[in-house]
Amino acid sequence: MSDQLFTADLEVRLRSAEANLLLRRFRAARLASGAATIGMLDRDVMKQYGQNLVVIEPAEDGEFAFLYAGAQVPDDAGATLGAKTTATISREAGELYRLGCREASLAGNAVCVNHQSGPQAKVHRWECLFLPITDAEGRPILVALCIPREYKHEFFRAVLDAMPHGAFVAEPVRDSHNEIVDARIIAANARGIEICGHEDLDALQGLSITVAMGDGAPLGPWDRHLAVLRSGKGQSFDHHYRGETGSHWYQMHAAPMRDGLLVSVVDITEMKQGFLELEHQRKMLLDEMEQRRGLEQELWALAHLDPLTSLPNRRAFRDAAMLKLAEAQTAHRPCAMITIDIDHFKRINDAFGHGAGDTVLRRVADIIKAPLRPNTDIAARMGGEEFTILLPDTDSEAAITFAERLRLTVEQSLVVTGEQEIRCTISIGIALNRKTSNLDDLINRADRALYTAKRSGRNKVATELDVQAGPKSSTVAA
Ligand code: GH3
Ligand code: MG
Ligand code: MG
Repeated sequence: MSDQLFTADLEVRLRSAEANLLLRRFRAARLASGAATIGMLDRDVMKQYGQNLVVIEPAEDGEFAFLYAGAQVPDDAGATLGAKTTATISREAGELYRLGCREASLAGNAVCVNHQSGPQAKVHRWECLFLPITDAEGRPILVALCIPREYKHEFFRAVLDAMPHGAFVAEPVRDSHNEIVDARIIAANARGIEICGHEDLDALQGLSITVAMGDGAPLGPWDRHLAVLRSGKGQSFDHHYRGETGSHWYQMHAAPMRDGLLVSVVDITEMKQGFLELEHQRKMLLDEMEQRRGLEQELWALAHLDPLTSLPNRRAFRDAAMLKLAEAQTAHRPCAMITIDIDHFKRINDAFGHGAGDTVLRRVADIIKAPLRPNTDIAARMGGEEFTILLPDTDSEAAITFAERLRLTVEQSLVVTGEQEIRCTISIGIALNRKTSNLDDLINRADRALYTAKRSGRNKVATELDVQAGPKSSTVAA
């Protein structure tokens, strides 16, 4: 797949002892007789390195022909390589030998090629020492010593062991009806062995996947693995496991293999705990926000609502009523102001007690609230036993009808507190907006009408007309 050539400092570059020894022999032969010959491959050398040796001679068109190849050399190795050339073997091996032979011939000296094999080869990496020598007739030939540096399975094992994920291979166990009843672990990487709490693969190998973890905890739910084995479709899932070593979260992926299962496991405990902690903090924050919202609402209510009746207070009423009145003035729409005062309320307090008086106040407030149009009418407790209502889009007639119904409802209500039964009445004053009305003017005029209602005997509804002309409406007339 890829070749790396070294032409200098070979004694440092060469990793294998065999290649170093042969290089020394080569140099000794050249020192002794000016050139290294085929004679250097004596019986000793052949016995020791024969399996890894290749003897090559230059052929036509820059190719090289194999005179001899040991059983353990790259590619179409052994006896069959004998009749071949670099042009007729695999491209990958051809390139290796061509590179080494050409460079050694050119340099007239030893070179080294670190060769990496293609995916088919058993050996992943080779160290190849190429030496230019002469044959018995003095013709230039080459000898290559090819030492396997790393086998493919070693490479994959190293890759697997370096992974932060645990990896397991399991084979199915079948009963006499050929039904899959279990899966047995046949391989695992270093992290997998560690996750399962074992010392080495021997302790893990052969164990059922359902008891693979040290203290018998399943390596994820068995039904998941079984489903993967039966369906041939992979599955991913999170697995929470509480064992002697505490609580662990694993992210698992089970993938089918030819007749088995590859299970990969990632310990996500820290991530999960971080997530749970975050979730906890988020909940606390939400709770706090909720509390704050509650507090804000309480504060708002304190500032805007009358605590006894939950009606808006005087200030809130003024703010909202001013807006409504301004809208009505701009649109030249009628707007009625109603003021209400409970009759002889002091007597109720005196006769039944302050608590009972409060209950009456609440009842009257409820009666006032009931007929209000949401987002249109505004009612308030202005203080003591006095209430107001602003009715936008309401003319005098409609206001009187509205007020009369209130008056009657209060009159007919019976307030029961403990053993006491209390009846009360209210007096009502009505004023309608005029072209130049402002809120205070409107309230004052309604109050004057209310005063008229009081004067004319209480439990009455009075309008401004009654103020000027004296009460004459059926409700006001005494
Ligand atoms: P009138 O028919 O002329 O309105 O007579 P009245 O007794 O209702 O009027 P007055 O203004 O003399 O008395 C109002 C009473 O309302 C006096 C006060 O103690 C009582 N009051 C004011 N606020 C409250 C309250 O929040 N609860 C109770 N129970 N009584 C209150
Ligand atoms: Mg009063
Ligand atoms: Mg009163």
